[in-house]
Order: sequence, then structure tokens, then C-alpha cells
Amino acid sequence: MTIEEIKTLSALEIGRAIREGRTSSQEVTRAMLDLIKEKNADVNAYTYVAEEEAMAQAKQADEDIQAGKLTGDLAGVPIAIKDNICTKGMITSCGSKMLYNFLPPYDATVIRKLRDAGMVILGKTNMDEFAMGSTTETSYYGPTLNPWGEDRVPGGSSGGSAAAVAADLATVSLGSDTGGSIRQPASFCGVTGLKPTYGTVSRYGLVAFASSLDQIGPIGRDVNDVAAVYNLICGIDEKDQTSTETKQLDLEAVKNFDVKGMKIGLPEEYFGEGIEKDVKDVVMQAVKFYEDHGATVETFPMPIVDYAIPTYYIIACAEACSNLSRYDGIKYGYRPDGVDDLMELYIRSRSEGFGMEVKRRIMLGNFVLSSGYYDAYYNKALQAKALIKKAFDEAFEKYDVVIGPVAPTTALKCGESLSDPLKMYLGDICTVLINIVGLPAISVPAGFDSKGLPVGMQLIGKHYSEQTLCGAAAAFQRENDCHRRHADKEVK
Ligand code: GLN
Repeated sequence: MTIEEIKTLSALEIGRAIREGRTSSQEVTRAMLDLIKEKNADVNAYTYVAEEEAMAQAKQADEDIQAGKLTGDLAGVPIAIKDNICTKGMITSCGSKMLYNFLPPYDATVIRKLRDAGMVILGKTNMDEFAMGSTTETSYYGPTLNPWGEDRVPGGSSGGSAAAVAADLATVSLGSDTGGSIRQPASFCGVTGLKPTYGTVSRYGLVAFASSLDQIGPIGRDVNDVAAVYNLICGIDEKDQTSTETKQLDLEAVKNFDVKGMKIGLPEEYFGEGIEKDVKDVVMQAVKFYEDHGATVETFPMPIVDYAIPTYYIIACAEACSNLSRYDGIKYGYRPDGVDDLMELYIRSRSEGFGMEVKRRIMLGNFVLSSGYYDAYYNKALQAKALIKKAFDEAFEKYDVVIGPVAPTTALKCGESLSDPLKMYLGDICTVLINIVGLPAISVPAGFDSKGLPVGMQLIGKHYSEQTLCGAAAAFQRENDCHRRHADKEVK
């Protein structure tokens, strides 16, 4: 099989081609590694390419498939992994100088599951430092660029994982989503990304940012691939006490899902001030698609959206400052030379090891948790969380799915939001509520703006409704080809 052919196939198609002997895991992996060698310098999607490990894994996969020991849909298919997910023996730097030399002694549960299924790990993808950001510009390892326009950010924080798929440097990848970090880069890069229900995918081995919000999920070219990867990584894990039992998705049912009779809600506030006209128009076109196919769509007020950003940033920073207190120069990562006493070791390790955005969040987090402000900020945020839950509970009494944009804009110019953190935070308005209440949501390429940049739509469902969400997304993708278009050409 040629590189061109491999580039145009979905992960499920590659899996089938391997099983049917039309190609091998080694051939596909070699092709992907060659593409990465050729193009990664342009986009900086990978911070580490696991060439030797990947080829060894592919060889093993080929042997196991031949011996009938590996029979799954994605056996032998390569995948890229966000660099905050622990991979045994492969540096997991989290986009930070703090973890520049951190070699995990174990695999995250999701990695173990992918390996058991015979998936091949191509390498680790770039990200905002400790997943804090929306542009992949806060990485210590330099920014990732958007394959759709290299003066554009790929979104973040899983910008490397989304850009890798958009640039044909992986067919599928894993990202993590604390407040939108799978969905928003998927939207900016024209790929599909699923943020699963909190607890359905183990967080064991995911470097913690905000533990009550963090969730690992798949990114791919289409929803069928994303659903197939989700099936591999989901399920209860005794190593993560917040994980829950969950049903595998029925991939055939996803593929053939009919939206007729579905009830879809459209929160007014998602289409309010600040949203670009092109984004609104593209999402409304998608809404029309559902109406034309027999769904009923209704607008409803959701005033709690106004509290999304403050609630999220208070909770996320509070949890982050606690989670990040473990980086002290002793147990992990960066330790400066020439230190004389313990206090200096703490101060210098953290001052030199963390970047600006991480420091800002640690300070914000400590502030909202401090005794004088705890009630005014942290407790208020928890009260707002209860109201957000209520608002979604009410919405899901009436609707099967809530639809909206993923982000108010398409991919921003590089540097545009770095100088103005508040502006960057405001861009999270459509994604963060979902994490606060642990709901599943999927970002689906829905069209393009007038500059030719991808626009994503977001489908949000009740807890454990991945089957419906993926089905509704698949129905759209069956009749629209925007997810098939790649950064510089049509692939199919
Ligand atoms: N952009 C959001 C933030 O900066 C979300 C990040 C994420 O989901 N990891 O916190």
C-alpha cells in the first residue's frame, strides 16, 4: 500500500486492511513515521517520536494478528498520544520544563489497554504546559502550528494531538479535556473529538490538572474511528476510584444511526455576543441538517452560561494548585544546580520549572482557596456548579441532545491571545460547563469560515449517552464531507 493510500484511510479501514493482509502494521507504521519525519518540523505536533518502540510494537502486532491472537478492529493501527498520558519508558513532559526528564515507570491504564488491543504508539504530542491553555502556545517545547494555516494556532491544550491527525501524521490520537482541550483543538483543526462522560475512561496515569474535570478521550478523522478508540479505552479501573462501569458502543448502530424523532435543544446564550458570524452560520446549517432529517430543534434559555468561565477557572485553578504542589524538585523532574537549602530548592525548582500560565493558575488557585476568600470564591463556584447541573438536568428532560458551537471563533492567529489571558479564557465559554458537570460532548467538523478555516459544532448529551452522541455525529458525517477535507486537499 502506498503512503498516499494510507493517508486517506480511516483507522478502522487500516485495521481491516491489516487483518485482510492487504497491508501490515509494520508497513503502515513505517509510512506514518516517514510522514512524521518529513512534516513534523513544520507543525511541531510531536514532541517525541517513538520510532524504535513503534516498529517493535508493529512487528509484534503483525505476528499476533497472524497467529490469531489479536483480532480487534484496530489491531496494528498506529496512534499518537498526548504528552500528559504516562507511557512507560517514554518521556512524558506535559509540555513543561518541569517534567523535561520524567520517564514514567508505568503505563497509564488507557495506554495498557491500547497496547493490549495491538495499537502502535507513534509518539507523544505537544500540548499547552500542564494542559493549561487553548492554543498549544504555552508549551515549553515551542508552539504547534495549525495545518490549515501555519500562522494559526491549532487550539489547545491537545493541539498536538489534533494537528497530528489534521496533518496526516496520525490517523487517531488521544487527548485530554479539562475544559475543552479535546473539542476545541478538534474544531480548530477540522477533526472529530470526543470528551467522554466523566469516569468512563480511567484517569490513572493522566498527569493531573484539575481532577474533577480531567477526562481522556479520542480524536480522529471521523466519528466511527473515535467511537472505536473509545471502546478500547473505556471501562472501570480499580486504579481510578472515580471510574465507572460503562457499556461499549455498538459501532454498527453508531454508523447507521437515524436522527428522525430526536429532540435537540439550542441554548440561546451559545449564540450570543462574541460569537463570529461565520461560526454561527455554519452551526445553524448543521442544525438545519438535523431538522431536515426529522429531528425537532428548539431554542431554550440557559442563563447560567454567564457563570461558566468564572466557575470553571475557580474550580480548575483551585484543583491545579493542589495537584501541582507535588512538583518540588525532589520527587519529580527539574531540579536546579547549586542549591544550598531546602527552601531555595523549592523556590528555584518551581520558579524555573514552570512557565507563566502555570504560575498564574497556581497563584489564582491559592488565592481562591485562601481562608479569607474561600467562601467568596471557591464555595460560590461550588454553588454555581450545582446550578449548572440543575440547568442541564432540566434541559435533558426535554432534549436528547444539546447543540452549539465548540468555540466562538475559528483558529486564532498565533500570538493573538497570549498577551491577553482573559481573552483566551473567554474563548472557553462553550466547552467548560460540560466538564463542570461531567457530561459527554463531541466536536464534529461542520464547515468552514470565509477564511477557509474549519468550524466545529458541538453535540452535548446526558451522562453515558455516547451512543446517541456518536450516532448523531455519524448521521451528519454520512451526508457531509467536510470532515474528509484535509488541510490542503480533498482526501476522498
Ligand atoms: N482552555 C482551558 C484551560 O485553559 C481548557 C484546558 C483543558 O481542557 N485542558 O483551562
